[in-house]
Amino acid sequence: MNYYGDPITKLVGELARLPGIGAKSAQRLAFYLINQPLENVRELAESIVNAKENSRYCTVCCNLTDEDPCAVCSDTRRDQTTVMVVEDPRDMAAYERTGEYHGLYHVLHGAISPMNGIGPDELRIKELLTRMGNGAGPRPPVEEVIIATNPNVEGEATALYISRLLNPSGVLVTRIAHGVPVGSDLEYVDEVTLSRALEGRRRMG
Ligand code: ZN
Repeated sequence: MNYYGDPITKLVGELARLPGIGAKSAQRLAFYLINQPLENVRELAESIVNAKENSRYCTVCCNLTDEDPCAVCSDTRRDQTTVMVVEDPRDMAAYERTGEYHGLYHVLHGAISPMNGIGPDELRIKELLTRMGNGAGPRPPVEEVIIATNPNVEGEATALYISRLLNPSGVLVTRIAHGVPVGSDLEYVDEVTLSRALEGRRRMG
C-alpha cells in the first residue's frame, strides 16, 4: 500500500531488499533519511555509488579493492610463501586486525553449502588453484595454505574440499585450530582467539 507517496514507497522498497532489513526497519531508515539535511543524504548516496563504481575484485586474491592487485598482494614485504584462505573480505580484515599474520590471502566469497545451492563453482576456488600453479605461468613460491574458513558445517566442508584438491600438489595444507567457537563467524571473534587459532593450526590430510 502506498501510504507515503511514490518516492518514499520506492525508497522503502529498495531499503527492504538489503540483507537483515525487514519492512519495519526499511520504513524507519527511510523516515530517518528524509529528515536529514539534503547534503548528508547526498553524501551517503554518492558514497554508495562511488564504492560500487570504484571497487573490483583483486585478480590475485579475489579481495575487494580499488586497485588491482590489492594493497596486500602488492606489498612485497609480506610473506609470499603463505596463503590464508578465508570466506569473506571481512574475515581477512579480522585477521589483519590481529597483527599476527603477515602472509597473503585468498578470498572465496562464501562456503560450500548444498542447502543454499552453493557449490564449489560458485566460489573462487578455481582462482585459488590457478594461483597455486595449476594454470599457466610460473609456480608461485607458496609453501603453506592455511584454511581459515568458519568453524561450522559449511566452513568445514569447504576446508576438506580444498585440502583434497591441494594435497596432491605437495603444498602444506593446514586448518586453523578450534580456539574459535564452533558455529561462529570469524568476523566477530576477538583478536586473541583468532591469533590462538592461527598458532594452533594443524596439518590437513
Ligand atoms: Zn589481492
